[in-house]
Amino acid sequence: MNYISTRDKSEKCSGAEAIVRGLAPDGGLYVPESLPRLTEKDFEDLAKEDYPARAARVLSLLLSDYTYEELLDYTTKAYSRFYGDDPCPLVNVDEGVYVLELWHGPTCAFKDMALTMLPHLLSAARKKVGEKNKTLIMVATSGDTGKAALEGFKDVEGTNIIVFYPSKGVSDMQKLQMKTQTGSNVCVCAIEGNFDDTQNAVKNIFADEKINAEIHSLGFNLSSANSINWGRLAPQIAYYISAYCDLIEAGRIKYGDKVNFCVPSGNFGNILAAYYAMQMGVGVNRLICASNVNHVLTDFFKTGTYDINREFHKTISPSMDILISSNLERLLFEVSGRDDKLTAERMKALRTVGKYSVGDKELKTLQSLFSVGYADDEATKDTIAFAMDEFGYLMDTHTAVAYDVYLDYVESTGDETPTVVVSTANAYKFPADVYEAVSGERIDDAFLATEKLNEETGEEIPEPLDGLKERPVRFEEVIDRADIAKKVVEYCRQAAKE
Ligand SMILES: *Cc1c(COP(=O)(O)O)cnc(C)c1O
Repeated sequence: MNYISTRDKSEKCSGAEAIVRGLAPDGGLYVPESLPRLTEKDFEDLAKEDYPARAARVLSLLLSDYTYEELLDYTTKAYSRFYGDDPCPLVNVDEGVYVLELWHGPTCAFKDMALTMLPHLLSAARKKVGEKNKTLIMVATSGDTGKAALEGFKDVEGTNIIVFYPSKGVSDMQKLQMKTQTGSNVCVCAIEGNFDDTQNAVKNIFADEKINAEIHSLGFNLSSANSINWGRLAPQIAYYISAYCDLIEAGRIKYGDKVNFCVPSGNFGNILAAYYAMQMGVGVNRLICASNVNHVLTDFFKTGTYDINREFHKTISPSMDILISSNLERLLFEVSGRDDKLTAERMKALRTVGKYSVGDKELKTLQSLFSVGYADDEATKDTIAFAMDEFGYLMDTHTAVAYDVYLDYVESTGDETPTVVVSTANAYKFPADVYEAVSGERIDDAFLATEKLNEETGEEIPEPLDGLKERPVRFEEVIDRADIAKKVVEYCRQAAKE
C-alpha cells in the first residue's frame, strides 16, 4: 500500500516513509492510495479480539510495510499503558446513545490513543527507511499535545523528546503534568512569552539548516509529533472500527447496520478517522461534526466557504479553539475526486487570503454525509449538568460540546439511529469548569476544584492526575526564546553521551 500527497498525486511513498517525513515535500498531506475494505467475516473475527489485536489488524491493512506481529507488539506496549481493562470503553448512557471514552491513557485525553503508538511506528519506520540516527522529537505545546507526546515517547528506544511550553500560556495542572515528567530521554523547558512566540521559535529551528546539520552531527534527526502525520491518524481509525465491533458483539446492531458518530472537532483529525473507517466498511449514517464558538467548520459545511477571517475566541473547550483545521485538506482531496491541483490551489488561497470555497457538487457530497453544529460555553456547561442529572454521567467540556450538538441534531431531525458520541478527555482535566457546571460554584484553583468535584459527584479521579501535587518536579528551567536553539543543541550533546 502506497501513500500519495494531497497536493501532488505522482508523489508516492511507503507508509514508513510517510510517517518519517510527516509532511510531503510539496507541503501536502499523505493519504493512502486506496483504502482496504473489511468484509463481514473480518468484522466477526475482529469482534472476538481484544483492543490491541483489533488495532494491530486494522493497522496492518493500512501499513503494509509493517508485519502484523510487529504491530501487535506496538499496540500491546502502547495500550498496556492505559488504566482499566479496556483502553477505549463504549458506555451506554441513554437509549441508543453510547459514549466512546478515548481518555484512559497516560494523560487522560484522546491524543494518547495515537501518541502512545506513534513513537513505536516512527522508530521502526526510521529503521525501515535505513535511518541510523536517533530521532529527536521537538514539540511546542499549548498544553495537551506536549504532555501526551512526552508520555508517548518516554523511554522509547532510539528516540529523545524535548518540549517547549510558554511559561504563561498553560494551566497550572498542565504545567505540573509536564514539570514532573518521568523518563530518561525527555526534556521539558518553559519559554518566556506566549504560545505564538514558542511555536515560532520552534518552527525556526525546523527550518534552520545550520542547526539541523549540527544536530545531525551529534547523531540525531529532528522530527515532529504533529497531528498531520499519518502515524497519528492511522491508530485513530482503529477505535471507530473497534466501537462498531463492540456494538455488534453486544447485540446492539447487526453487521451492516448504520450508526452516527458525533465528534468534538478542532484540527479535524479525529472525525476524519471516522470518515476513513466508514470507507473501510463501518456502517455510517451521519458523521456529526461538533464545534465550539470557533465554528469555522460548522460554517464551511453549511455554506461551502471556509473562512478564517474572524475573531478567535478562548473557550472552556480549549483543545478545539482552532481556526485552521489542517486535516480538512485530506477530506477536500477526497470529495474533489482526488484533484491534487485544486487541493493545492485551495490551500494556497487559505494561506494568502484566509479562505476558499468548494463547488455545489462537492458541497452536496459533504452534506450527504456530515451534519454540523456548535455549542457556546453556556450550552456546554448546561449539557454537563444535564448529563450528570439525567444519566449520572460526568463528562468533560469537549465531550459536552459534542453531546449538546447531538441533542440539537436529534431535536431537528428526529433521527433515531444508534449514535456514538466521542469523548475526548476525562472531566478532571478541566476541573474548574466542570465543577462550576455541576455545582454552580466557581473555584479557580485546579486542585481544590478537583477535590470538590470528587466530593460532589463521587466520580473517581483518574490515576495519572491523582497525586500530581506530590510528584517531584524535574524540570524548572525557563529560558528566553532567543536561546531555544542553544538549548536543543546542548540537550543533544548531553543525550548523545547517554
Ligand atoms: C485535540 C482535541 C480535540 C480535537 O480533536 P481534532 O482531532 O483536532 O479534531 C478535542 N478534544 C480534546 C480533549 C482534544 O485534546
